[in-house]
Amino acid sequence: MIRLEHVSKVYKTSTRPALEDVSVEMDKGEFVFLIGASGSGKSTFLRLLLREEVPTKGRVYVANFDVVRMSRRRVPRLRQSIGCVFQDFRLLHNKTVAENVAFALEVIGKPRNTIRKVVPEVLELVGLEGKSARMPHELSGGEQQRVAIARAFVNRPLMLLADEPTGNLDPDTSQDIMLLLERINRTGTTVLMATHDHSIVDSMRRRVVELSLGQVVRDDSRGVYGVGR
Ligand code: ADP
Ligand code: ADP
Repeated sequence: MIRLEHVSKVYKTSTRPALEDVSVEMDKGEFVFLIGASGSGKSTFLRLLLREEVPTKGRVYVANFDVVRMSRRRVPRLRQSIGCVFQDFRLLHNKTVAENVAFALEVIGKPRNTIRKVVPEVLELVGLEGKSARMPHELSGGEQQRVAIARAFVNRPLMLLADEPTGNLDPDTSQDIMLLLERINRTGTTVLMATHDHSIVDSMRRRVVELSLGQVVRDDSRGVYGVGR
């Protein structure tokens, strides 16, 4: 599903590499935590998968896409197969819950009938069936993140990338969001989650890939956040 081969990334304005000789593979259906201190390269890793950045060296493969060498006109199709969730939710504030989710389908040209059918389904999946007409500011943080997850998942992407999705949530709400991500993972969707949240990583016991100064320093199949620290 994801393969990086000897990937290095040096930003133009920087001297040290943001990623250095990273080789890692993730299978379809895996649930993987990407951890590491601030500045260790997690966001760069995620941006390379979306082709928001290209590596200085090395190869990146996502699903059947050769992400580095693919033509620019295929990039939208790559991005359609990857759902994204962020720490700050990134909802459209002037649209209702249902409209936020529907919009993700409208922009890729899905027919109205499909949209009318699948939006309520995905809102039920995330536990927001009663809130489709609410505006984002009427929702709690956890509920807003559920909307963001519904929006990321409504198109049934092959993969979900989550960048600190619990970063703005209290511990109980964070656990609820993790249960939801697990549910999505059980549908066969690969989930890659960048996080600083020790307690979540420790309670889930999933694969942990740790970056330090741009290098993979650990890859445990049922890992915890900190070993020997
Ligand atoms: P993390 O997500 O783990 O905090 P990043 O991938 O954001 O790490 O950053 C890795 C390194 O690359 C850091 O030293 C950061 O300052 C640098 N970096 C990130 N984005 C850019 C950019 N657009 N231009 C220059 N340097 C960047
Ligand atoms: P939490 O306790 O999870 O932080 P809140 O106390 O913010 O959540 O909200 C509890 C419930 O009240 C939620 O279901 C939310 O949708 C609803 N709610 C919160 N603020 C508003 C509002 N301004 N208008 C309507 N409903 C609201």
